[in-house]
Amino acid sequence: MVVLSVNAGSSSLKFKAYDMPEETVLISGVFERIGMKDSFYTIKINGEKIRKEEDLNNHEKAFEILMEELLENKIVDSLDDIKAIGHRIVQGGSYFDKTEEMTEENIKKVKELSSLAPLHNPAAVKGIKAAINVVPNALQTGAFDTAFHQTIEEENYLYPVPYEWCEKYQVRKYGAHGTSHKYVSSRMNEILGRYNTKLITCHIGNGASISAIKDGVCINTSMGLTPNAGLMMGSRCGDMDATVVTYMMRSLECTPEEMDTILNKQSGLLGISGISSDSRDIEDGMKIGNQRCALAQKMFARKIIDHIAKYYVELGGCDGIVFTAGIGENSIHTRREVLDGLSVLGVKIDEEANDCRGIERLITGYFIASRAATRIACSVATILAGLIAALLKITVRKGKKIQVVTACTLAFVIEVVHMLLVYITNTNDLEFVIGIYRKVVGPMIVANVV
Ligand code: ADP
Repeated sequence: MVVLSVNAGSSSLKFKAYDMPEETVLISGVFERIGMKDSFYTIKINGEKIRKEEDLNNHEKAFEILMEELLENKIVDSLDDIKAIGHRIVQGGSYFDKTEEMTEENIKKVKELSSLAPLHNPAAVKGIKAAINVVPNALQTGAFDTAFHQTIEEENYLYPVPYEWCEKYQVRKYGAHGTSHKYVSSRMNEILGRYNTKLITCHIGNGASISAIKDGVCINTSMGLTPNAGLMMGSRCGDMDATVVTYMMRSLECTPEEMDTILNKQSGLLGISGISSDSRDIEDGMKIGNQRCALAQKMFARKIIDHIAKYYVELGGCDGIVFTAGIGENSIHTRREVLDGLSVLGVKIDEEANDCRGIERLITGYFIASRAATRIACSVATILAGLIAALLKITVRKGKKIQVVTACTLAFVIEVVHMLLVYITNTNDLEFVIGIYRKVVGPMIVANVV
């Protein structure tokens, strides 16, 4: 049975066709720069990647081409062989907290929420409608980006505005890219081999967001009421002083709709560079010395660094940072700039490992490797110290005074080992080291003293 997953983004349409229930990927690909100059698409089939230039005026056109490719490549004999199509949808508001069938009524709700995701929900509706037109017999479902963020607590999802705005107008943080944050965090947990983790997931594409995830549950995310919050993006401004909006509306004498367009489609990388919203164009501009491109890139990276640092504090540490989406997966330069900006947290990029695109790979030594090394070394050191303490307790029986001195000497030695390990592995991960100290060494020393 063939099942198709479709992700209609603001400027792209990604797809994968699966043979179910085996979940074998039959074909995958991405339509890029939809509605822009130089649009193209790439498909991956039988281990081969094919790129084709094509005018992609809108998502319907992309969908039509996708169907032609499925037939031409004999993925299906007829479009009726596609039994289900799953659509990624950005904004589910308070209507959707899980995946739902895209009935007439539900499509209406998705459309109704367009004012909260003006770049995405209309694209998704177009994608769903195009899919229904072309494959009317397939089951159509919607997976909502906002659903994963429903666990965020009130103090993080409310804005400091009149409380009634939330009650009456549903003004609150909904977040976005939830399906992506959910997937990459659970994958990272698999890699780490445990689930009680603190993770910072960075979905950096044309639209970009960062989430703080504790034990698999989202506790904060950078996008807000709409996907134009938090980070600076391809053509979206993200967070800024809200008064800029009213001030500039008066100065430009523009309507709310016009201001919406400026903030969503003419800001971000495009607004600052004056050239493009596409990070590849920005990187190309930087290579030929374009100062505005360099400035745009610097600002872009700065916002990512700021959010990671903020969530590091909110989580009380971090077991891993994950990069995903177009820029996260492919921009070696952006990842390097961001990780260099986090050096104060002990993050050290592995330049060689970072020299990759679109694959799963550890690109620093700190969060996983050094941390694991520190753990093992600390455990060995503390266990040895504990054993020595126990031996001393048996052999030295000359009164309480000497036992106390022995315990103090041991505490000192362990502390020196601890500091050396922190120094050698270049990690600031004191919380963990202190945790081991308390749990293993602490009780042993106390037992000696008393
Ligand atoms: P969205 O789904 O929000 O439209 P994507 O996740 O598809 O966005 O990401 C699009 C972004 O990824 C664009 O800015 C594009 O330049 C960037 N990107 C894709 N490939 C590369 C690459 N090889 N190097 C740098 N950036 C890239």
